[in-house]
Amino acid sequence: MKLLDKSFEVFISRDKIQDKVLNLADKINSDFFGKDVLFISVLNGSFMFTADLMKNISIDSEITFVKMSSYVGTSSLGNVDQLIGLNHKLKDKSIIIIEDIIDTGITIDKIMNLLSIEGAKEIKVCSLLFKPNSFKGKYKPDYIGFSIPNAFVVGYGLDYNQKGRNLDSIYKINELC
Ligand code: 5GP
Repeated sequence: MKLLDKSFEVFISRDKIQDKVLNLADKINSDFFGKDVLFISVLNGSFMFTADLMKNISIDSEITFVKMSSYVGTSSLGNVDQLIGLNHKLKDKSIIIIEDIIDTGITIDKIMNLLSIEGAKEIKVCSLLFKPNSFKGKYKPDYIGFSIPNAFVVGYGLDYNQKGRNLDSIYKINELC
């Protein structure tokens, strides 16, 4: 399969992803039964995972969507991280952050730092993909779909220069091409 100038091969099939999503939803349904849950989906990459996961969530819950943005501030503090779109109150809620992939862990650390001051009861992270060999972060995901090696992957929401998000399987870059 080709996207722009790169070639990719199937890495995790549609069926395997769907089985895993069911499995993750089952775990969350039982771990959070009876709790007041707010799912926070981090766009863009997690849109497809979020949709499939949420179809199998049976506990009483709400969902909201955020985007991480980093801009150069006017002070000497350097880059300022911001979560765009968060208009729910987090106080005393159980939060589950939905991510597509955690690689170095830098993004999820920033998100956790921004959310931890909002007074939530607990914050858990559910990531479809996790790259343990490049992870250097503080917050390891609580729910992991697949731990994968350090290869670049696309599909099922993940892009290569904005292409490939629509694919229903996950593809790995073909290093030989
Ligand atoms: P972090 O290194 O902060 O954990 O990951 C930051 C972001 O890098 C992820 O949210 C994702 O957008 C992107 N990323 C990391 N690894 C991959 C990959 O293999 N494929 C794609 N498409 N994006 C990735």
